[in-house]
Amino acid sequence: MVTPTSSDVPLSGSGGTPAVGSVDLLPATLDQLARLAIPVTQGDAVVIVLLGADRRSFTAGESPPTWMAHDPGILLRTGILARAVEAAETALALQLGDAIDHEALVELGVGGLLVAPIIRGDGLVEGLVAASAREPRPWGDDAALGLIGLARIAQSALRWHSLLLDRAPRGRRPDAHLDPLTGLAGRGAFLKRLHEAAARAQRDPESPFALVLLDLDDFRAVNDSLGHAAGDEALVEVARRLEGCVRGGDLVARLGGDEFALLLERVSDAREPALVAARVQEALRAPMSLGALEWVASASLGLALSGPGNGPPEAILRAADMAMFRAKYQGRGRIELDDRARHARALTQLETEAALRLALERDEFVLHYQPLVRFSDGAVTGVEALVRWQHPTRGLLMPDEFVPVAEGSGLIVQLGRWVLRHALQELAAWERRPGAQPGLTLAVNLSAREFAQVDLVRAVSDALTETGVEPARLHLEITESTLFTRQDVAMDTVTALKALGTQIHVDDFGTGYSSLSYLHRLPLDAIKVDRSFVRAIQVESRARHLVSSLVSLAAGIGIDVVAEGVATAGQARLLAEMGCTWGQGFHFGRPAPAFEAVRAVTGVLPFTERRRA
Ligand code: C2E
Ligand code: MG
Ligand code: MG
Repeated sequence: MVTPTSSDVPLSGSGGTPAVGSVDLLPATLDQLARLAIPVTQGDAVVIVLLGADRRSFTAGESPPTWMAHDPGILLRTGILARAVEAAETALALQLGDAIDHEALVELGVGGLLVAPIIRGDGLVEGLVAASAREPRPWGDDAALGLIGLARIAQSALRWHSLLLDRAPRGRRPDAHLDPLTGLAGRGAFLKRLHEAAARAQRDPESPFALVLLDLDDFRAVNDSLGHAAGDEALVEVARRLEGCVRGGDLVARLGGDEFALLLERVSDAREPALVAARVQEALRAPMSLGALEWVASASLGLALSGPGNGPPEAILRAADMAMFRAKYQGRGRIELDDRARHARALTQLETEAALRLALERDEFVLHYQPLVRFSDGAVTGVEALVRWQHPTRGLLMPDEFVPVAEGSGLIVQLGRWVLRHALQELAAWERRPGAQPGLTLAVNLSAREFAQVDLVRAVSDALTETGVEPARLHLEITESTLFTRQDVAMDTVTALKALGTQIHVDDFGTGYSSLSYLHRLPLDAIKVDRSFVRAIQVESRARHLVSSLVSLAAGIGIDVVAEGVATAGQARLLAEMGCTWGQGFHFGRPAPAFEAVRAVTGVLPFTERRRA
């Protein structure tokens, strides 16, 4: 604690009673947070200063810049602190020239100073963040916005700390055990479970637990613009979706306003919680209706794994909240991992690679098929083959969990060959069944590495000859980013594959380097508009216009449009009106094992029934 009149008092909270609900963990967190803003402000140092209850004393982090260490009272004497306090409700950035006696700062070696207040939700100023530079310098808008952004994160750090630690003022947090609004566990129940999990993990280090902290982005705007009733409704819906993302034994808790935590017990490795986090992001992205309006939630997530360094509950809490603040600082809707989880992920990458090799030998892969529906008449005209790994201990794994590793290690080539041949064989086998629909098309994904293989065309041609499937029925899906990054081979390969008679479809269109030039140059047959656009068409008129313009553009150059990720009847109707050729998505049918896909095309699967109804 620093009293402005005595400059010989240490700066951090180690000596006195901490100010603003701060505890032992806070100074270190604030120091780490401050460092986040160094690149964007390009200051030599950034410091976070918290006001004491008397609004005159203050604390700084553990390692404040030298000028502050030399003269802790300087911010007060130069009026900077007072200006920041007056700044309630306005996020302004003060500069060196705003100081009363800025010579004093210059004498301490501060050539440039940029300050932003930390403002609480109710308008009270809780402190400030300051970037300093040794040389005089102008600060650009980026620096000012970066610092104002950091002040906002520091504010949420204070909130999180008061929520997680017992010294929080009562009344500002949900009921300790049960959150009456959402029915989720409350703060008390969460902390209790956290201690239990930490104790258990200590005894059984082989099965760590993971902590995911979640903070909704811009939730205040929902309350401010739609009212508190709508805000409550949104929180209940978020809670329900979070519960849908975890397993039975895991805990979902609401710690405060828009602050949630997931405690995942006995995770086998870092990918498991990372996937849960990704699932959470995905679950939140579906629009929710609040009264007459729709809102698309987004959240910043921080993930930490228990383990040697993260033994005590406080340590894992800090690792997770620091990761979450990093996520928040980088923008909306991000997930960040703590160092341990990152390290574990790198390790599992290697393990996965070894296991992938074995899996190829042991034939552990299976294909699921998802139907493609023609909008003009609702008929299923084809399927897309999607690979899964039937892992001996971890169950059925999705491509996100192993395709990137396979791609990185080159194993994708072998895997891709297997997918191609196997899918064609299964297609040929279906058609021999009585009552099967003839002439279905088959879409197969090619990764960047496969696409660049010199003998790709030969392999495709061999597989077609071997299975007797007409080339025109094979749709090869190449992502937009592959076409872009492998421009060297794109023209030759696409031309050669077309010469075989296969169709070329551009996957995930709109997510990469959408360039009209390749649409013009390459002989393509269709684009698959990425599901991020499809998801938005009912909510955002921009997305609707974008997709409908893409459809006309494609029609103009004679190529078809496949809409990916069609999840609702409303989307399907809009896309059909726009003139999309095909749709694919959960609304029509989820990917299913071959056997079910066969029943699907013979009309027994629920999606065909739903369509007829
Ligand atoms: P993709 O080619 O864009 O495949 C579509 C993905 O979207 C599939 O995920 C599918 O299950 C999912 N999807 C379909 N409809 C919906 C919907 O309505 N909502 C939502 N949320 N998702 C939907 P999956 O099977 O996890 O595959 C992910 C990606 O992995 C694929 O994206 C593809 O890029 C890659 N992949 C899959 N199989 C293979 C393969 O055999 N080889 C290669 N190289 N990549 C593959
Ligand atoms: Mg695809
Ligand atoms: Mg796609």
